[in-house]
Amino acid sequence: MLVVQKYGGTSVANVERIKAVAQRVARTVKEGHKVVVVVSAMAGETDKLINLAHQISSNPSEREMDLLLSSGERVTSALTAMAIEGHGYKAIALTGRQMGIITDAVHTKAKIEKITGEKAKKALGDNYVVVIAGFQGITETEDVTTLGRGGSDLSAVAIAHALNADLCEIYTDVDGVYTADPRIVPEAKKLDKISYEEMLELASLGSKVLQTRSVEFAMKYGVPVVVRSSFNDNPGTLVTKEDEDMEKVVVSGIAHDTNQAKITVMGVPDRPGIAARLFKGIADANIVVDMIVQNISSDGKATDISFTVPKTDSKKTLKITEDIARELGAKGVDLREDISKISIVGVGMRTHSGVAAQMFDTLARHGVNIMAISTSEIKVSCLIDTKYTELAIRVLHETFQLAGA
Ligand code: ADP
Ligand code: ASP
Ligand code: MG
Repeated sequence: MLVVQKYGGTSVANVERIKAVAQRVARTVKEGHKVVVVVSAMAGETDKLINLAHQISSNPSEREMDLLLSSGERVTSALTAMAIEGHGYKAIALTGRQMGIITDAVHTKAKIEKITGEKAKKALGDNYVVVIAGFQGITETEDVTTLGRGGSDLSAVAIAHALNADLCEIYTDVDGVYTADPRIVPEAKKLDKISYEEMLELASLGSKVLQTRSVEFAMKYGVPVVVRSSFNDNPGTLVTKEDEDMEKVVVSGIAHDTNQAKITVMGVPDRPGIAARLFKGIADANIVVDMIVQNISSDGKATDISFTVPKTDSKKTLKITEDIARELGAKGVDLREDISKISIVGVGMRTHSGVAAQMFDTLARHGVNIMAISTSEIKVSCLIDTKYTELAIRVLHETFQLAGA
C-alpha cells in the first residue's frame, strides 16, 4: 500500500515530536508500506514569520511573503527526513518545487494546477521514504507560492491523488473530526466517518481541522482521507462518500468562524446594477465574499447592504467598498470585526424539516441576536455577536443531542 501521511504543526512542533513522527513512519514502512510524508512548519512558525514581515513592512509584497513563509516547511521536511534515516531507512526531503507542484500565480492563496512528482516517483521506486514540504508550490515562471493557511492539508491530498496513493492520513493534535471543536465543547463526540460534503461545509464554515480546499479536492477526486492523532494510536475519522446511515442523523456537526468581518454599506440607492458594481469591485481584488444581506428599502429609494469577508481582507475590502460607495452615492460604510458565524451541518437536513427553526429558537431562548442568516441544503449559518460564540455552540450541541453516550 502507498500511504501519504501529513503531519501538522503541533505534530512537528519540536525535536521530540519530529522523532515521534519518524518512529511512526518507520513502523509503517516496517509493516510493508511505501510512505510519503508531508509536513507543516513547526507550530507557531508561520505566524512568527508573518509577524516578522509586518515588523519590516506594513504592506509586504505577497511574492516575498510566499518565499518567506515557505521556509518553515523546508526546515521540518529536512529534519524529518534526517530523523527517519536515524531509524535505518532511506529518506529524501523535497521542497514543493522539487516535487513539481505547479500552481497559478495568486500569491498567498495559490491553486495547484498540476503535480509532476518525477523525483518522488523515482525515489519511491528506489525504496526511499519521501518527505515533502507542505503548503508550497511554484509557478510556471518559477516564483514560490503558498496555498493559503492550513495549506499542507491540500498538499497532502493533492500529492496522494498525483501518486495514486491508497490512503491519505492527516495527523493532528485531536483524535479525528468531532461534532464540534473539542477545545470548546468538551462533550463533543468523535465521528467514525463523515461525508465529503459535510466535511466540506464544516471546513468552509470554520472547523479548521481540515483546510477547505483540501476537502474540495478529496471530494472531487475521491481521495480517501483519515483524520487522526499523532499523539496516540486511536482510530480516526474517515472522510468518505455519503451512505444511507449518514442521512439518519439530522445534524452531524457544529462549526464556528471568528475570522470574519461584516461590512455594511448604508443608504445605497435602490436600483438595478448596484450590487453588481459593488461585488464585482471586491471580486476583482480576489476577495471572497461570504454572507450577503440586502434589506428591502422601505421608501423605494435607499437600502442597506451587509456582507462578510475574511478578517484578513477586511481593511482592503473596506477601502474598495468606500471608493465604490462614494461613486454610488451611498450614505456611508461601517466595518464590524466582533462577529462570529455559527453553523449547523448535516446531510440529514435534506429530509428533515424545521431544523433552522429549532436553531433560531435555541439562540433566541439564550438571548442571542441573529444579524444574518444563510442556508444551503445541508447547513444553516447565523451571524452573531462574537461574545456569544461559546454559549451558542454549547446550547446548539445540546439541542441537537450531539454529545457522546
Ligand atoms: P494541524 O496543525 O495539525 O494542521 P489544526 O490546528 O490546523 O492542526 O487543526 C486541528 C484543530 O482543529 C484541533 O486542535 C481543534 O481545536 C480544531 N477543530 C475545530 N473544529 C474541529 C472539529 N469539529 N473536530 C476536530 N477538531 C476541530
Ligand atoms: N504552516 C502553514 C500554516 O500555518 C500551513 C499548514 O500548517 O498547513 O498555515
Ligand atoms: Mg491545519
